[in-house]
Amino acid sequence: MKKADKCISCGKGLIEKGSTTFICPTCDTIIGRCNSCREQNVKYNCLECGFIGS
Ligand SMILES: [Zn+2]
Ligand SMILES: [Zn+2]
Repeated sequence: MKKADKCISCGKGLIEKGSTTFICPTCDTIIGRCNSCREQNVKYNCLECGFIGS
């Protein structure tokens, strides 16, 4: 699987450990999130389909 290179919520590069890459549940787009957005449960918004998750 390809890895996202930016956090979808804050746009930071995914260089920290604890960052994650996963697939949008509804449209299979690759989504990346950084460690701090995960810890703070920042919502993400899929750019392709508008899916909102946290
Ligand atoms: Zn982030
Ligand atoms: Zn999506």
